[in-house]
Amino acid sequence: MGTIGQYLRNRPRLLERLYSISHRGILRLSPLIEKIGFERADRWLQFPEELTKRLMFDCTMCGQCILHSTGMTCPMTCPKNLRNGPCGGVREDGNCEVKPEMRCIWVEAFERSQRMTLYRQEMMDIQPPVNRQLEGDSAWINMLTGADQRVSDGWDR
Ligand code: SF4
Repeated sequence: MGTIGQYLRNRPRLLERLYSISHRGILRLSPLIEKIGFERADRWLQFPEELTKRLMFDCTMCGQCILHSTGMTCPMTCPKNLRNGPCGGVREDGNCEVKPEMRCIWVEAFERSQRMTLYRQEMMDIQPPVNRQLEGDSAWINMLTGADQRVSDGWDR
């Protein structure tokens, strides 16, 4: 994990504010993006989104970003790719059972979420399974089209 990313992730309150501003900005741009066409905008946005989020969060472009609900900590960096955590395997020292040298990302997510003011409560939400068909898409565009809210049959939000 990069040093800049680590520095920023340990400032969840700053990150949640930046998230909130960018979220409102994207919503405001929605009519323009719709005119451009969601597919075309998706192609344009993938690169800058991946660049910034990879640097800051080790993002792997799952296409359904829930960072603000997980303490501004990417759930896909969990070796098990869990969208809800932690699993039952956290070690006594707070490290991961799969990678003993790594701190459990869910322990970090919870600790960071408690320092947040805008989205702290969302940490307790149960997240639906990740839709692998959205991998590689811009999560910003999937948020605008609502693709990130679609869940498998039988799953209640
Ligand atoms: S939740 Fe998905 S889109 Fe958001 S940072 Fe993690 S991999 Fe990237």
